[in-house]
Amino acid sequence: MRFNAEPLELRMSKVDVTVIGGGPCGLFAAFYAGLRGMSVRIIDSLPELGGQLTALYPEKYIYDMPGFPKVLAKDLAKALVEQVSQYHPKLVLENTAQALVNNGNTYTIITDKGLELETNTIIISAGPGAFQPTKIGVEREDSLVGKGIHYGVRDRSVFTGRKLAIVGGGDSAFDWCMDLEDIAETITLIHRRDGFKAHEDSVQKVKNSSVEMKLFYVVKELHGVDHLTGLTLENTQTKETEHFECDEICVNIGFKSSLGPLKEWGLEIEKNQIKVNDRFETNIPRVFAVGDVASYGTKLKLIATGVGEAATAVCYAKTYLEPEAKFFPGHSSDRDA
Ligand SMILES: Cc1cc2nc3c(=O)[nH]c(=O)nc-3n(C[C@H](O)[C@H](O)[C@H](O)COP(=O)(O)OP(=O)(O)OC[C@H]3O[C@@H](n4cnc5c(N)ncnc54)[C@H](O)[C@@H]3O)c2cc1C
Repeated sequence: MRFNAEPLELRMSKVDVTVIGGGPCGLFAAFYAGLRGMSVRIIDSLPELGGQLTALYPEKYIYDMPGFPKVLAKDLAKALVEQVSQYHPKLVLENTAQALVNNGNTYTIITDKGLELETNTIIISAGPGAFQPTKIGVEREDSLVGKGIHYGVRDRSVFTGRKLAIVGGGDSAFDWCMDLEDIAETITLIHRRDGFKAHEDSVQKVKNSSVEMKLFYVVKELHGVDHLTGLTLENTQTKETEHFECDEICVNIGFKSSLGPLKEWGLEIEKNQIKVNDRFETNIPRVFAVGDVASYGTKLKLIATGVGEAATAVCYAKTYLEPEAKFFPGHSSDRDA
């Protein structure tokens, strides 16, 4: 989902608003900034836009998007990218916003790759921050990533006709069991105990399916050189070990995330979220926060509410830049009138 082939110098030029985080709320903020005639840049530490939709659950259906009875996360991300692309935002991917310099009327954001990006206002939509999947924590795990070890599912087709082990006891593990049952040759769910965090309905469906369950087991060793060929499993009760043959292992034991460098900016932070007022302003002037990263009394961590926060923040940013501009821009449907 790349759409900006502008030379780097142009992408570095000063903009009205810089959006930190290209997840759904950041993408919508950038779209709304374009709609309001503001120049906009999006920075994301990942190589692809879409945030959690693309990175964590691209193949899952979302059921609570207005107007969509159901929509695949990756399709929603694609549509958001298409929507914002009409305003040609400057894209700075694979760069983490690291430091903030206050120049008086403008800010300079310095990225981990050393880029210096000047901007009048900032909208932080960094979600839980840069996130990393929790690893099993066994030897050679890193060397087998993409060679049999997967954290979540980016491409279902990889599992076609394969002997698949799914590790975890939460919703993601159970959802993938159901979702991949029709294409994998076999699926075995491996979990360290017999209690699950997944919804009861999903647990029941998997129990009624062809998925085998190995409960009270943890992965102790990975086998295979160029590609995974099997696992050593340990029974958590008896401590006995056994060999388990499989071609792929899909690990779903959570994510670790941290706001990391943003924590050093002097923002008021509460439980890894940035405190905002009802204009989505942070305690730093002309710096807003929206989406999962924003914290206020009635906060819901949903895309439907986060994109509304993004529109509000953009409208306040607009009135900072042009005090005579209206806060309420009118309806987007008015533009064809
Ligand atoms: C499995 C799963 C299922 C879900 N299902 C639903 C659902 O059905 N309905 C729903 O409404 N919500 C759902 N959600 C939640 C939804 O995905 C989030 O609310 C939404 O993604 C938040 O969007 P965001 O734009 O605020 O942040 P994110 O999507 O988290 O994007 C944040 C982006 O910021 C980037 N970033 C972070 N720090 C920096 C930095 N310093 N510099 C540069 N880039 C940075 C990250 O790389 C990331 O791309 C689900 C979440 C999960 C995990």
